[in-house]
Amino acid sequence: MENPIPFNRPHLTGKETHFIYDAVNTGKLSGNGKYTHLCQSFFEDNFSLGKCLLTTSCTDALEMAAILLNIESGDEVIMPSYTFVSTANAFVLRGAKIVFADSRKDHPGMDESQLESLITDKTKAIVPVHYAGVACDMDVIMNLAEKYGLFVVEDAAQAIDSYYTGKDGVKRALGSIGHMAAFSFHETKNIISGEGGMLVVNDKSFQKRAEIIWEKGTNRSAFFRGEVDKYGWVDLGSSFLPSEIIAAFLWAQLENLDQIQKKRLLIWNIYYENLKHLPEKSGIQLPKIPHFATNNAHMFYLISRDEEQRDHIIQTLKENDVHAVFHYLSLHKSPFYKAKHDGREIEQSDIYSERLIRFPFFNDLNEAELKKITQLICNAVS
Ligand SMILES: *Cc1c(COP(=O)(O)O)cnc(C)c1O
Repeated sequence: MENPIPFNRPHLTGKETHFIYDAVNTGKLSGNGKYTHLCQSFFEDNFSLGKCLLTTSCTDALEMAAILLNIESGDEVIMPSYTFVSTANAFVLRGAKIVFADSRKDHPGMDESQLESLITDKTKAIVPVHYAGVACDMDVIMNLAEKYGLFVVEDAAQAIDSYYTGKDGVKRALGSIGHMAAFSFHETKNIISGEGGMLVVNDKSFQKRAEIIWEKGTNRSAFFRGEVDKYGWVDLGSSFLPSEIIAAFLWAQLENLDQIQKKRLLIWNIYYENLKHLPEKSGIQLPKIPHFATNNAHMFYLISRDEEQRDHIIQTLKENDVHAVFHYLSLHKSPFYKAKHDGREIEQSDIYSERLIRFPFFNDLNEAELKKITQLICNAVS
């Protein structure tokens, strides 16, 4: 009997417990210590990101962004319906009304061409989600933001080490373009710390306050730098810092970022090569990467012809101990939000909800396993 192939298996570089041991030995276990600084500087230096603050999750980073933008009751925030609940929840927690945008026809990312029609005088922010680590067309989004005085928070949860090339020909890391960005290090992402995340504050005018919100609404960071002689409660805030134990784990991953990414791309390309000749009549669509985006090999997905074919593929794999899954269900139809939605049809999002399938993707997926998975897919659709 062959081993089952799970959807995800967290990849360890081998140094995680070494750095955790070191963190424990130095006796500094709370946040904002040596490993936190190492990780934050790594991101700032390697991806030209603005001020980076580690958080306990991407969800937390998005919540910080909503506080920083002073989102309040009645404000409207535009984001795709095809996304994770946290993208929306972070803003709903502050009273925002979510205006859901549709996805592109060629990619599950947000359809930028429809955004302008969703902007009203109540709109405060746009939250593009770089689905599968593939960039949204940031030139279009940033131009609209400038024209209407809006803020842009990139949900870059899946988008580490991925890039956008704009009209000026400059290749920029995702997370470095919007006023702010949020990353995730959840165990299903490319770089992990179990749970974990990071807020990136590119717009300098938010940087000082970001640090205060991060430190429970106190000016503790400024105090430890000797900038103020006592610290106290100066603003809203919460406990957003991860402990040094988590940062130490993350540091072991970051040290191996290039190797991890190389391996993931290799896996992605094997999937693609093995599946690119699926018969046209099967109706299956392969992932498409828009010309302005790069592929960071966050996930491998296919879009099936219909829900029935999707279920058949997932079932065929399941019978052979391979765990494939579908993904988001349109948020505008969710039990929590459907009554609050403005009633517009959001067609592409529903199509991806019904037809998109994600396949096992983790670093120690070997060639035999990849062959088995792709063979099963071919059998299921022929
Ligand atoms: C994973 C993910 C999140 C949430 O990340 P956490 O770190 O688990 O809070 C948010 N948005 C998107 C698009 C994600 O993929």
